[in-house]
Amino acid sequence: MHCPFCRHPDSRVVDSRTSDDGATIRRRRQCPHCSRRFSTSETASLSVLKRSGVSEPFSRAKVISGVRKACQGRPVSDDQLALLAQRVEEAIRSSGVAEIDAHQVGLSILQPLQELDLVAYLRFASVYQGFDSLEDFETAIARLRAEAPEGGEPAASPVV
Ligand SMILES: [Zn+2]
Repeated sequence: MHCPFCRHPDSRVVDSRTSDDGATIRRRRQCPHCSRRFSTSETASLSVLKRSGVSEPFSRAKVISGVRKACQGRPVSDDQLALLAQRVEEAIRSSGVAEIDAHQVGLSILQPLQELDLVAYLRFASVYQGFDSLEDFETAIARLRAEAPEGGEPAASPVV
């Protein structure tokens, strides 16, 4: 990339390090023309298209704050929320898309949330799957019961 100081079209990498979560690489570069140094950071591009039409970078923090509301009063720890957001991001990235609909992000949260806490799952699903009647809750609860027969772990089947 161009040197931000003198616009020289080339630069040399003098240092390169990966962020703690492994998602970003930061590079120190030096311009061979003016010798000044600057930093660049590199992440695999993943953006979220909001209903307003604005697109913004995918953010685990936003996933967490959305899920946290549904988890109010539930025995769900911050660590579990962080892990859930990581799983959501990994699932979306592994699908290979560079941009995803905000609504689709919400739907991607459902499966890991179901495994975490069923009450929080129902609250969240009622918003993202647009439950508008008691029947919708009954259907969802019946499905959860069917997937978790003797109070065991729910089966890992995709959410329809
Ligand atoms: Zn320069």
